[in-house]
Amino acid sequence: MDLSAEVQTIKGVGPKTAQALAKAGLYTVRDLLYYLPRDYENYQSATSIAQLRPGKVMLKGKISQLSTRYTRRNFNITEGEIIDSTGKVRVVWYNQPYRKNAFKEGQDYYFSGNFDFKYGRYQLVNPSATIATEVEQAQDGFQPIYKARGKLNSIFFKKLFTQLRPSFAQIPDLLPLDGAPDFVQKSSRADALLDVHFPAEQSEVEQGRRYLSYEELFELLLAAQFNRQETEQLQSVILPFHATKTQQFTKNLPFTLTNAQRIAAWDILQDLERPHPMNRLLQGDVGSGKTVVAALAAYQTACNGHQTAILAPTAILALQHFEGLRKLLEPQNIKVALLASATKHKEQLKKQIRDGKIDVIIGTHALLTDDTIFHSLALCVVDEQHRFGVEQRQKLVAKTALTTPGKSPHFLAMTATPIPRSLQLTVFGDLDVSIINQLPKGRQPIQTTILPEIQLELDLYPELHRHLAAGEQVYWICPKIDDGAKSVISQAKKLQRLFPEYSIAYLHGRMKPDQKDQIMSDFAAGKIHLLVSTTVVEVGVDVPNATQIIIQSAEHYGLAQLHQLRGRVGRGTKPSHCYLLTEADAQPSQRLRELEKSTDGFHLAEVDLRLRGPGEIYGNLQHGALDLRIASLADTQLIKLARSQALAFAKQPQNMVKYPELASGIQKYQQLTTLN
Ligand code: ADP
Ligand code: MG
Repeated sequence: MDLSAEVQTIKGVGPKTAQALAKAGLYTVRDLLYYLPRDYENYQSATSIAQLRPGKVMLKGKISQLSTRYTRRNFNITEGEIIDSTGKVRVVWYNQPYRKNAFKEGQDYYFSGNFDFKYGRYQLVNPSATIATEVEQAQDGFQPIYKARGKLNSIFFKKLFTQLRPSFAQIPDLLPLDGAPDFVQKSSRADALLDVHFPAEQSEVEQGRRYLSYEELFELLLAAQFNRQETEQLQSVILPFHATKTQQFTKNLPFTLTNAQRIAAWDILQDLERPHPMNRLLQGDVGSGKTVVAALAAYQTACNGHQTAILAPTAILALQHFEGLRKLLEPQNIKVALLASATKHKEQLKKQIRDGKIDVIIGTHALLTDDTIFHSLALCVVDEQHRFGVEQRQKLVAKTALTTPGKSPHFLAMTATPIPRSLQLTVFGDLDVSIINQLPKGRQPIQTTILPEIQLELDLYPELHRHLAAGEQVYWICPKIDDGAKSVISQAKKLQRLFPEYSIAYLHGRMKPDQKDQIMSDFAAGKIHLLVSTTVVEVGVDVPNATQIIIQSAEHYGLAQLHQLRGRVGRGTKPSHCYLLTEADAQPSQRLRELEKSTDGFHLAEVDLRLRGPGEIYGNLQHGALDLRIASLADTQLIKLARSQALAFAKQPQNMVKYPELASGIQKYQQLTTLN
């Protein structure tokens, strides 16, 4: 069949099926051939019930005593027993009532699922079931499992692929062979796809997956490389370095810059001198002092008569940046302003911005959608957001073009979420990276303790009393706003009863922006001693006098998020402590134990990537860029291979004409990873 033929032209695929396939994004034969199995089932590995061990299992048996009960609204349980010659085992399906009538008495089935201890007994939970004779007749002990799409189940896809098998041969190779590793040279795209759809054994699956992963990484890396080259071709305002002024500036700081800050600042200030836009990511653990580095960049921009926009993800952070940057920049006669929803005399301020009377404008992302007109925007700093959406970037460029036609803004992203090396090379491959890997002198390390909730009264409260009495401040993080015992509101009440002599307030995301700002600035000013909050305090907020943070239900959060939360303390000169509260009887997870052991954000990021995968961690920040079909972004070795080939390939501009399929393939990645 023609690869671009619509699915409806396949024998046996009617309009209804075609519609269901379209819902899954499958329109053509080509789309289908790339619908990869989500897993494999090894029927040869079936065990007898007597030999069952907890974990993923495959067994063959008959079903008996099946019944369904409805427990609550929208919830039902179908349960029964599976029997073989060695014994019987309990089976349950949650919310799959059709299972009740899905089995023939006396018939053998293969069941595959998790065998686990739950609700006081061992049982097989939500297993898949296949008629045994079907598997045995097909003589395929090893079978792909496809993600079901509505009524289109795995069996449907298997039949479809068997029918389409001859079409695989038509799939052209995407990868250039020049410089490709051996396993690419010796195979082809068609073979790799056949390997994953029709494997005889696990090793074939791995072969096919490796080829396809390499291909995907190559595309992603190539896209990043082209973006880099394209940025190189754009023009930006040149902002020369002012040596004496900059020296003066650093001399007047209330502290000396760390070496790491100096190096990062140097990278950035040099970038600004170039005629092409900077596109740089500044990474530094919480408290490493990124703000002053951004201030130096804004200073150089202002010294050259141009404006800087600084965007923060929340109003609280915008306010803090405003206060921090004002302290740093106003003594140098740089005009700094905050443009937030609560700003008074907004129109007047906007006029000043338009007239070029303000040098540094701080706001949330609304600043971009806003009708604010800049006098001459040349630098944009974005805090705590690894990237911009395409739309935001276009707005930014449009604002710059208004005053300096043909020029793109310099762009600096700052983040405290360390990005593992493998991701730096792939998804962030078009960005230059500077790392502040050193904390300012005099910082006390933060001690971290996992504490079961039952020990609160005995261990934690007396400790908190001691610190509050010494004039230190405390964060208490709750998982919920207003529902039940672990909510911000009820926890604040409870703590107020326990610590009547101190001022306790709460903070959460549903409060009005100016209400939140008020609480946060009262806390920063020391008027509030203990702040009960949801994770809205997560990013960036700086209160050096806060030394204790208690994170309730710590298991609810990801590693990166916990690390961020912990970074709220340890910002002053007093020793700090982070308590991770766990529910009474639960064993602490590996995540929490890693956190207890290490305060190194980069190490934790690598662990997080291993434990959860990149989609979980960076997925929503990436606008889908991490929806890789098959490759793992943690596969450093394959990334290295693909990268060296992609770099060499990108050096030859005629290559894109030679490989049109590749050219169109990488477009989708390019859009996701470019600034301009
Ligand atoms: P982050 O990287 O988390 O944004 P900040 O820029 O908010 O960190 O800096 C944290 C605190 O450290 C601020 O109070 C800042 O004034 C202070 N700071 C920054 N650099 C230094 C330094 N070199 N020496 C001492 N204190 C510093
Ligand atoms: Mg910060």
